Amino acid sequence: MSSPRQRLHKNKRIVIKIGSSIIASHEKGLREERMAEIAEEVSILRSEGHEIFLVSSGAILCGMEKLGLTRRPKTIPLKQGAAAVGQSRLMWAYEKHFEKFQINVAQVLLTREDIADRKRFINARNTLMTLLEHGILPIINENDTVTVDEIKLGDNDHLAAQITHLVDASLLVILSDVDGLFTADPRKNPEATLIPLIEEITPEIEGIAGEPGAISGTGGMATKVQAAKSVAAYGVTTLIVNGTAPGLMQRAFQGESIGTLFLPKPVRLTSKKHWIAHSLKVKGEVVLDAGAVEAILKKGSRSSPPASARLPENSRSATPSDASLPMGKRLQKA
Ligand code: GLU
Repeated sequence: MSSPRQRLHKNKRIVIKIGSSIIASHEKGLREERMAEIAEEVSILRSEGHEIFLVSSGAILCGMEKLGLTRRPKTIPLKQGAAAVGQSRLMWAYEKHFEKFQINVAQVLLTREDIADRKRFINARNTLMTLLEHGILPIINENDTVTVDEIKLGDNDHLAAQITHLVDASLLVILSDVDGLFTADPRKNPEATLIPLIEEITPEIEGIAGEPGAISGTGGMATKVQAAKSVAAYGVTTLIVNGTAPGLMQRAFQGESIGTLFLPKPVRLTSKKHWIAHSLKVKGEVVLDAGAVEAILKKGSRSSPPASARLPENSRSATPSDASLPMGKRLQKA
């Protein structure tokens, strides 16, 4: 039987997340030569039959250069302004580099609300699927210019995990500025070694990933491991690989042990359950007695909550029914 590494290339639909530091820097703005290489790598994957969705950061970093800022903005309006300036610059560059490979791109900007609202979630899915059917490469980012902290997805690792679920991809590739997940922070500990394969994301693994804290973008290893954990519950594999140099992703696809591979959970959640668990903002809590816990965990009970459950008023809106959606727009897997 082939190993998970050898099976990597069999994943047809792939979401590739590109971190800010891969394609831009504080000092020099966009790294156009790296963008050109990425365009080539993506075009090769597409010619091999893979369906690709890109999630790209870099808008704020790109905008900083244009606004003459030397440090990442701290205030929300400045971040939003930088993102507005940077996003168009970013897309202009992607458009130019992908054109060389006859690939048309589309900009898709989403907010947490687009994902947390079932109808908008399905609308976004329909749009992305339509783009795919027409051979267009969707390039997705958070709509930073209209989001404030309370409603922000926060980091693009999280956004990429949401998109992976949204488009039903079977593989999430996170291009990072480090080689993968290490036993300790390699920037601080020279003894740290790379973990090539993670079969299950245990609390210990989450502990190793530590606190979020990348230099250029928003996410560090913690957000990447959380993204991997979220998609693993949906039966999706994640590969974290160094994206600063060309060819590494390709070599990983050829079966080489490069980066860190996170295996999916053997039993996947349905799309609807995954959406409830991973896409909604928690608005309340349910208190269960021992009998109810037993019924839910061991007997798989799906009946209405027991008398001891307390559902706050606003938690009802957290689980809207698909039944309100027009036929044909309902989730196939829900
Ligand atoms: N959406 C942000 C940007 O394009 C990046 C967020 C992140 O780094 O995760 O600049």
